[in-house]
Amino acid sequence: MSRILCRRGSSPDVREGVYRRCQALPHGRATAPLRRLRELLTNDLRAIHVYTMPNKAIQLVQLLRSTKRVKRLGTVILFVTSRCNSFCRTCFYHEELNRPGDMTFDQIARVSLTMPPITDLWLSGGEPTLRHDASAIIDMFVRNNGVRRLIIPTNGLVKARVYEIVDTALGSHPELDLYLNIALDGYGETHDHVRGVPGHWEKTLDCIRTLYPSKAKYGDRLRLNVNTVVCADNYREIEKLGEFMWENFNLDGQYFNIVRGETLVGDEIKQVPADSLTQMYSYVAQLTKRYGDRMFADDDRAKRFAKNIAYVGTITTHYRAQHANFARSTAWPFPCTAGETIAVIDYNGDVRACELREKFGTLADYDYDFGALWAAEGRQTELNAIDGGQACWCTHVCFIHDSMRHSRKALLYEGPKNYLTREKW
Ligand code: SF4
Ligand code: SF4
Repeated sequence: MSRILCRRGSSPDVREGVYRRCQALPHGRATAPLRRLRELLTNDLRAIHVYTMPNKAIQLVQLLRSTKRVKRLGTVILFVTSRCNSFCRTCFYHEELNRPGDMTFDQIARVSLTMPPITDLWLSGGEPTLRHDASAIIDMFVRNNGVRRLIIPTNGLVKARVYEIVDTALGSHPELDLYLNIALDGYGETHDHVRGVPGHWEKTLDCIRTLYPSKAKYGDRLRLNVNTVVCADNYREIEKLGEFMWENFNLDGQYFNIVRGETLVGDEIKQVPADSLTQMYSYVAQLTKRYGDRMFADDDRAKRFAKNIAYVGTITTHYRAQHANFARSTAWPFPCTAGETIAVIDYNGDVRACELREKFGTLADYDYDFGALWAAEGRQTELNAIDGGQACWCTHVCFIHDSMRHSRKALLYEGPKNYLTREKW
């Protein structure tokens, strides 16, 4: 499945607090980034009646606490199957698809039992909904590991399976939020062409509509998103697709990832002109703002503003990191935490720090004891090699997002700054 943007941001209160903290700083003591941020925020907030803060000291403490996350494992991307019923030209996982060797349910159960608590589980693949016991796997990770956010990327080809998995997960676990990321890689026939399946477009749209009753039933606990991989085949129609989905579908968001990794058709699919990319990011950043305004429409003006800083700022930071890394390597403005806060488990039990690096361990060598593998020396060697992201080059938004969540600079400066500068590309 195309890997998808997750859209959980830091608390909106964090962003609101940033403004207040910047305002409180004497000019002489502010760092250059904070001075710049204060200017931006001050300008942007002039139109808003800032509401009163009952206790600034307490809120400041809360703000600072909320931005400090311990760097420990919190997100797992679990490839539950290598089976897939699409043939995407953009797929970086194509060499691993439709192979024998998916972990058995019992093996996955042992992985879950030996894994520490986590908050976020990505059910990935292949096409994860093709795994017949997907619901039981979800149930296991919620019960054993305390998962609170489930993210499922899907091609939406088998709508009955998608519906069943969503309904079972949300119906069985009232404390669970589910982010369903449905792939659409072009308008109409372009989507069919990129995905290598005639009629894919209609089936995917049908799948989205099938989920409306679930959306009505579960409200905000189900986030219905579309993810689009931008490539040489579709960059000319990104706006057309974005407007079509905005006008005709009841989505929570649409996200755009630039094609990455070694694809099925080689580098030809990556030939997107730089000026088109600039235009595209400008468009998708403003589209994100529209989605934010719609999503937070019931909030009062000031709250909507604060939530938009968190949401739009986070997504725009993803886009900025992608944009800066499309043609050449540019270090993210915060460390990559792959292998520390996030792990990838392949369908066959191989474990990697991220989806673009080689395995550093295999669960079979540890009798599927995840804790033992995670504590072994191989992971530390891999972390040394990654060097906080200095040693690699990628545009992978799942890892950009998770790394952001563990960086105060990203939460307190990059996100708000990118919100305020979202129109400049
Ligand atoms: S072929 Fe397409 S749907 Fe299947 S895993 Fe690859 S990107 Fe995902
Ligand atoms: S920077 Fe990218 S390639 Fe390198 S470890 Fe992080 S996610 Fe993986």
